[in-house]
Amino acid sequence: MRGLMMDRPLLISQLIEFAAEYHNTTEIVSRTIEGPIHRYTYTDAAVRARKLAKALKELGVEMGDRIATLAWNGYRHFEIYFAVSGSGAICHTINPRLFPEQIAYIVNHAEDRIIFVDINLLPLLEALKDHLKTVKNIVVMTDRAHMPAESKLPGLLCYEELVSAQDDKFEWPLFDENTASSLCYTSGTTGNPKGVLYAHRSTILHSYAINMAGAMGFTSDDKVLPVVPMFHANAWGIPYAAPMAGAGIVFPGAKMDGASIYELFESEGVTISAGVPTIWLELLRYCDANGKKLEKLKRTLIGGSAVPKSMIEKFDKDHGVFVMHGWGMTEMSPLGTISTFKRGEHGLPKDKQYDLQAKQGRPVYGVEMKIVDDAGHDLPKDGVAFGNLLVRGPWISRGYFRGEGTAAFTKDGWFHTGDVCKLDEDGYMVITDRSKDVIKSGGEWISSIDLENLAVGCPGVQEAAVIGIAHPKWDERPLLIIVRKEGSNVTREQVLEYFDGKIAKWWMPDDVAFVDQLPHTATGKLLKTKLREDFKDYTLPTANAAE
Ligand code: AMP
Repeated sequence: MRGLMMDRPLLISQLIEFAAEYHNTTEIVSRTIEGPIHRYTYTDAAVRARKLAKALKELGVEMGDRIATLAWNGYRHFEIYFAVSGSGAICHTINPRLFPEQIAYIVNHAEDRIIFVDINLLPLLEALKDHLKTVKNIVVMTDRAHMPAESKLPGLLCYEELVSAQDDKFEWPLFDENTASSLCYTSGTTGNPKGVLYAHRSTILHSYAINMAGAMGFTSDDKVLPVVPMFHANAWGIPYAAPMAGAGIVFPGAKMDGASIYELFESEGVTISAGVPTIWLELLRYCDANGKKLEKLKRTLIGGSAVPKSMIEKFDKDHGVFVMHGWGMTEMSPLGTISTFKRGEHGLPKDKQYDLQAKQGRPVYGVEMKIVDDAGHDLPKDGVAFGNLLVRGPWISRGYFRGEGTAAFTKDGWFHTGDVCKLDEDGYMVITDRSKDVIKSGGEWISSIDLENLAVGCPGVQEAAVIGIAHPKWDERPLLIIVRKEGSNVTREQVLEYFDGKIAKWWMPDDVAFVDQLPHTATGKLLKTKLREDFKDYTLPTANAAE
C-alpha cells in the first residue's frame, strides 16, 4: 500500500521563494568586486533571480543545459544559482584557482553553453579564448559602467543589462526532483577532474541536514558568512540552507584575507561562518598581530582538511568561538560528519571537549558509513581498527558525470571515499589520511594528519606537512616539512623536542625540513603529490645508518 501524501517535487526554486515570502526583510550583504558593499533583501534577490531566469530563456537556455560560473561569493552569483537551477538548467561552478588548462578541460567536458564571469576573472577566460569550444555567450557580472572598454572575447554581455531588460513575471517550472541541478568538478590531485552532478532532491535534503540543530543549525537570527567559495561544493550548501532557515548571508567577494574577513565579521555582526583551516590560520594570525577579538562570531564550521586541536582551543579561549569540525567531500554535497557534542559531553572538562572536537565528528542523519580492509571485509567500529571509508546516502554521488571513475562505486551501492579512518563506539570518526598519503613504516601505518596537527601546536610553526620518504629498512619514514611563523627561527631540535612524549616513539619524524611555503590544491588542501615530487631525491639522515 502506498502512502497518501502529496508527491510535490523538492525543487531549488522553492528555497528562494520561501525566503522572499517569509523572511522578506532579511538581508544579503556582499562585498562587491567593484568595491562598495551591496545590500538587499531575499525579496529583491528572488525578483532578480526570476528576471535572470527569463533572460536565460531568451538566450535559448533549455532544461539540462550547462551554464557555468567563474565567480567569487557575491549576490549575483547567488542569483545565478537559483535562476539557472530553478529553470531546470545545470549551474556549473568553476574554481578559478585551477590551472587554465584544467579550466578549459572542464568547460569542454561539461559542454558549457554560457559562462557568467566576475569582472576580475575575465582575463582568465580571455587567455582561454581559442579553447572554449561550446561556449556561446559570456556574461560579465557587473553593470554597464564597469564593463571592460575592450576585450579579446567578442560579444560580451552585461549582467545588469540582461536582468533589467526583463520583468519578474516568471513561474518557476515544475519538474522531477531528481533532475540535475548543479555540477562541480573535484580538484583531484591526479588525473583529470571528475564531475559531481547534484540533483534538486539531493540539494534540498542536504539543506535540511545542514539545518539540523546538531549540524550547522541556522536560524533566522543568524548571519552566516561562507568563506568557503561558491565553487567549492556549492559553498558547502550554505546558499541553499540559509534561505531555507531565513538566515541572513554576508558574502566576502574576492577578499578573503584576515583583515577583510575580520572587518566584515564585526561590521555585519556575523554569527556563524564556514571555511577551510588555512583561512582560519590567517584570521587568527591577523587577530593576534593586531590585538583583535572576534566579538560577534559564535560558531564556525571548519573542514576540508583536518583541524588541529590547537586551533580549536585558540578559537575558544581567545574568542569564545565554538569550532564545529566537519568532514565531507564534493561527492557528498559535501556534509558527512560534524563534531558537535552529544548527550553527556556538554559538561566535560574543556580539554576533553577539544579532543572530541579535533575528531572529524559523527555522521549526520542520512549518511551511512563503514570501514573495510583492502579485501573489502567490514572492520569493527571500535576506535582501534582503521580502514578504507565507504559511505552511502541520498546526497552522495552514485556516479561521476559521463560515467567516469566507476571504480569508486561498489556494485552494492557504496562510494569509496579514498580516506582511511577509524570509527569508534560513540560514532566519532578520526581520519588517518587519504589512502595515498598514509606513511607505511615497517608494515604499520603512521598518520601524516596526526603529525601535522601536532606540529602546528609547536611555538614558531605556522604550517606543517608530513610525507613518507623511502627508507631502506622501514620502507617509508616520515619527513616533517615546516613553514616558520614570521620572525621565528624555531629549529629542528626544538620541534622534535616538542614532539617527544606526545606520540609513540616510532612515529617520530626522521627529519625536519624548513620551506618558505607549502603547495596547496585549488581548494586549499596540502598538495602532497607536489611535495613528494619536490622531495623525491631527499635522503633521510637515518637511511644510511639503516636504523
Ligand atoms: P573535497 O571534495 O575537495 O572537499 O575533498 C574531500 C576530501 O578532503 C576528503 O576526502 C578528505 O580527504 C579531506 N577532508 C575533508 N574534510 C576533512 C577533515 N575534517 N579532516 C581531514 N580531511 C578532510
